[in-house]
Amino acid sequence: MEKCPTAAADLILSHANAITLDPAHPRAETVLIRNGKVAAVGDGGALNALGGPDTHIIDCKGQTVLPGFIDAHCHLLAFAESLVSLNLEVRTEIHSISDLQDKIRQVSRNAPPGSWIRGRYNEFYLAEKRHPTRWELDRATSLHPVRLVHRSGGAHVLNSLALGLVGISREAADPPEGLIERELPTGEPTGLLYGFGDVLARKVPPLDRDSMEQAIRLADERLCSSGITTIHDASSRNDLDRWSLFSTWKSRGLIRPRIRMMLGWKAFDACPADHLLSWSTDDDHLRMGGVKIIVHETTGSLSPSQEELNARVLRIHREGSQAVLHAVEENAISACCRAIAHALNHVPRSNHRHRIEHCSVCSPSLAGWIASLGITVVTQPSFIYYSGHRYLSTVPDPHFKNLYPLRRLTEAGITVAGSSDAPIVPISPIVGIYAAVSRKSDAGELILPEEKIAPEAALRMYIEGAARAGFEENSNGSIRPGKLADLVILSADPTRVPVDEIKHIEVEKTIIGGKIAWEKGG
Ligand SMILES: [Zn+2]
Repeated sequence: MEKCPTAAADLILSHANAITLDPAHPRAETVLIRNGKVAAVGDGGALNALGGPDTHIIDCKGQTVLPGFIDAHCHLLAFAESLVSLNLEVRTEIHSISDLQDKIRQVSRNAPPGSWIRGRYNEFYLAEKRHPTRWELDRATSLHPVRLVHRSGGAHVLNSLALGLVGISREAADPPEGLIERELPTGEPTGLLYGFGDVLARKVPPLDRDSMEQAIRLADERLCSSGITTIHDASSRNDLDRWSLFSTWKSRGLIRPRIRMMLGWKAFDACPADHLLSWSTDDDHLRMGGVKIIVHETTGSLSPSQEELNARVLRIHREGSQAVLHAVEENAISACCRAIAHALNHVPRSNHRHRIEHCSVCSPSLAGWIASLGITVVTQPSFIYYSGHRYLSTVPDPHFKNLYPLRRLTEAGITVAGSSDAPIVPISPIVGIYAAVSRKSDAGELILPEEKIAPEAALRMYIEGAARAGFEENSNGSIRPGKLADLVILSADPTRVPVDEIKHIEVEKTIIGGKIAWEKGG
């Protein structure tokens, strides 16, 4: 059968240093691809004979081939928008609120009055060490509504024109999960809004069609050039409209990596419990994932309440779906564990793979509890790199020693998946792998070095662990016959170069479903 011309390989990667993550055949030299899947994996040139006249052969010249990276938690729409928004987080350019005003002023000169100016900022690197106010933004422009997103994604600053347009005034009440910062004693909003993501998503007009299309093309380029072949979109506002949007982008080929879309709790709750969560496109490029709930204490008490969280998780669990719970600090994480334990008490089920996203501060006992409940943790090692410097001066002692304890989590036997949470930080898995292995910030400071993990363990987080987090380990997450031909070719082997070299490794090619989606210099 192998000699039949119709069964010839579509693509052969030869002279590769393939790290397969398949224990049966951990390293290989040749990978043969047919119909979008890995058809064979071998050593030496024997498999080359299975090529035909139309077979494309890539001579890897010893370069490293890995299963494609899976970003198990990012926000595609916000990421795309960030690529066409004003980046006020560039530390080398923005040192103060006056630099930030200058940038906005520059952009506003070329923007028609009344059009929205959108940007991201990071107060930590401003000399003033605080958020800008509406009045400071007004001094940059009063003719354009301005909406700046805080680096965390959890807060916004608006200028006066924007506040007026979205209806926030001295008289406006705080929404249930948000907070309007006010000046004392007048009660006048300062422009800083906490927890207003949903409100602003409804009231600020979206990007126009052309800008959105440009944004999504840029996002696709960033993903593919980072070696990412699948993303899990963890946006809590995901709903059926979002699904249609992603479907359109997919069918128009605007976005090549596979998308696993979580549904926000509100959308899940609004739909009759049915088949919704098993939706997927025929080619499996777009699939519905679990149900996202944000659990936090930002406004002083647990939100949602423990009782409400228990009820929600039980409902998701009963319907056979996966709960995807955002929890950063220990109280929130413990609340998630209680809710999952409660659901498992009512309806015992192994292999549920309910997820805790971030799990940023995690003591040994909490890690033990998470492991005993069979919970998957979706972590963001890149935060150590991009935010480590800030953590050193802002995270208090009792928390610091439990910050992103990757080694502790893996040694406890927890499935840990890697992710970026883009646009919070850049999307590169290579930087995340470097951070997990080195525990170094971008300034070179060590952040809890006892929590370093081995390069192969870090790779596994972004490949095998992330595939498991999406229930896809049978089709993805290693290079073996029958699995998706989603692969990345790297300039060097992360398991063999000195640790500090890992962050310089470049993506050479990204292959999705057996097709080259991106190549360096291409
Ligand atoms: Zn997120």
